[in-house]
Amino acid sequence: MNKLFENLNEQQLIAVKTTDTPLRIIAGAGSGKTRVITAKIAYLINEKNIFPRKILAMTFTNKAANEMKERIKKMLDNENVNPFISTFHAFCARVLREECEAIGLHNKFSILDSNDQRAIIRKIIKNMKLNEDGTLNRFDKKALSKISFWKNELTEPDEALDICKDIEEKAFAKIYKKYQQHLFEQNLVDFDDLQILVYKIFRDNKDILQKWRNRFDYVMVDEFQDTNEIQFDLIKLLTAGKNNLTVVGDPDQTIYSWRGAKIQIIMQFHQVYPNAVTVVLNENYRSTQQILNLANDLIEHNKHREPKSIFTNNDHGPKPKLKEFSTRYGEARFVAHEIKKLVEEQGYQYGDMFILYRMNAWSQEFEKTLDNAKIPYNLIGSIKFRERKVIKDSIALLKSISICDDLSVERVLKFTPKVGDVTIEKIYNLASEKQLSLFELMIDEENSVRTITKYLDPIRNTFIKARVMFENNESLVELMKFLVKESEYEAIVKRLDDKDRDEWKNVEALYDQLKNFEKGFNSELYGEENVTLAFLQEESLASEEADEEKSNRVSLLTIHSAKGLENKVVFVVGLNRDVFPSKNSMLTIAEFEEERRALYVALTRAKEILYISYIKGEYSHLSGGALIESKFVKELNPDLYTYESNIFVKQEGKSGSYLKKVFGEKPEIEVIKTDINENDLVNHVMFGDGIVIKKMDRQLQIQFTDSRYGSMILASDNPVLTK
Ligand code: ATP
Ligand code: MG
Repeated sequence: MNKLFENLNEQQLIAVKTTDTPLRIIAGAGSGKTRVITAKIAYLINEKNIFPRKILAMTFTNKAANEMKERIKKMLDNENVNPFISTFHAFCARVLREECEAIGLHNKFSILDSNDQRAIIRKIIKNMKLNEDGTLNRFDKKALSKISFWKNELTEPDEALDICKDIEEKAFAKIYKKYQQHLFEQNLVDFDDLQILVYKIFRDNKDILQKWRNRFDYVMVDEFQDTNEIQFDLIKLLTAGKNNLTVVGDPDQTIYSWRGAKIQIIMQFHQVYPNAVTVVLNENYRSTQQILNLANDLIEHNKHREPKSIFTNNDHGPKPKLKEFSTRYGEARFVAHEIKKLVEEQGYQYGDMFILYRMNAWSQEFEKTLDNAKIPYNLIGSIKFRERKVIKDSIALLKSISICDDLSVERVLKFTPKVGDVTIEKIYNLASEKQLSLFELMIDEENSVRTITKYLDPIRNTFIKARVMFENNESLVELMKFLVKESEYEAIVKRLDDKDRDEWKNVEALYDQLKNFEKGFNSELYGEENVTLAFLQEESLASEEADEEKSNRVSLLTIHSAKGLENKVVFVVGLNRDVFPSKNSMLTIAEFEEERRALYVALTRAKEILYISYIKGEYSHLSGGALIESKFVKELNPDLYTYESNIFVKQEGKSGSYLKKVFGEKPEIEVIKTDINENDLVNHVMFGDGIVIKKMDRQLQIQFTDSRYGSMILASDNPVLTK
């Protein structure tokens, strides 16, 4: 047998080789769905001699797309095969570059990320004076989600105004109208537009549709269970009349209903493709029996699902561990300690571990604790490199002279020396008087802005020169360096840096990134010759995702961004009421079941060791009271996990009353077994640093540095770390 198919089981092989009929692969987590797609692409190229560019594969994240590309190159042992593998959004951006004229959009449109969107919405709210009573403060997010909803329903702003139900919706509809106007004037599209506009182009232009249909002999979609109507409409348009579609998915992993994903799409696939073949995979290759048992048992609580039988021949491993902590700090400390132990004593690498949480806010405690414990980590999807102020300022310089949007120019003006809000307002007024964009005004031949102030001279000259570099498609990194230096931004950043603050490093990291991009730039993939514009497109599409990851680090990420990924050790943390399920998901059974699916996704990421934890007792704003365990904790089958109970801590000395206040009569804390001896320097989860002054039978007496605690006697298997 060919090495491409090494290790594929019978069902997987059928799925790979079924190429001339619509095919649906339904299977549980870790059963090799993504692997089948990858093998199938390699098979088509190698065995069926299909030209790689004739294969289109849609994945869920850029990360998944890149991984798939790499794997195929490896399988075929050829660096130069380039099948069209991308996310839905990146695919749509590519189509739109080529076809935008069909809907009157300029080819040099740029894509807004969610931060830009919010900035525009906030500005509209301010300008429309909708907010005089303050009720719309912080409503930008809500307005955006309503606008996104309308867009996906193909509801135009005027129609939205007609159908809105209350005052709030009416305000949102007005904002929607202004927002669309702004996008149109500035030649911008948002994430929703990418798909919707391509859908409209395909729907209304037979020739264009035919052209794109002919471009792809095979179309494959991973994570099909999270496809929404618009995406499915696009797939249908691209594949109608051709028996060339393969979709793979797991209905138990639908977790994007809030973005319009519909389980019915995968379940009722036959209604649209009556001759479709379905292949079911039921061997899990990812997880140990113990992990799989717990996950399968949990998902059976969902009433609205098709039962599945999934098994594994993998080795047995430890039962998943359920842990209760009294504080979030305690949870983070335990995880940090456990990670160190696994690395130091059991040969695991930092890169073998995921810490998964339901809401982004849960990462904070872990960031701090891992920093303190000097454990390297990648924070995925949260405060990202590209969201740092210096990076945003630098990118604004680049956007100002290429995309020329007002928002970026305004951002640049804000850091321009001796230019303040009053000057900016004057520039806006003059621009609107002359019916020019800010950028056009800044560089106009008469030097109109000179009438406002001479302090605009340096930035005006920078813009003019940089614009020429941009139009000549000069080196991206040189252009960026020129902008940062000439606009005096370099001097500003360096002046503010000191020994605690090294923002300039971020700018240098950006230069590296630009250089790398330039090196690998391939204009055909972007439908764009200009390297700066291609970079900005990539940037806006990637902005919802992780920073470039560094290798061998623990990954901190939300469950939603862990889709399709796997790792040896997984900590699912914060399984608390009002956190997971999240507060606003307690409304309907459907939403509750979706949260349960999210937990199923989380548990099934683990290959070897799985920890699940929750907090009991600590007050938190997240739950609006004392944290308690999630309902899901009770649903976990106690036969299938081990539970490590908490322990009673005795106290003595002056710390007694304080501890009672903090913990009540019976303080409960977490257990970590370690060998500790007299005179060891130790660190305790709650009480900080100390020294062991006496070791007794099953207890330790520790003198803590913090005078509030003084000397305490603790059970010897308590959460104390040796230093
Ligand atoms: P998810 O539902 O989480 O997306 P999946 O069904 O896409 O999971 P994959 O990620 O493709 O599953 O596979 C899970 C793991 O099992 C991977 O490490 C993959 O390499 C491995 N695997 C898949 N099929 C086989 C096989 N036949 N033999 C050995 N390993 C396999
Ligand atoms: Mg997968």
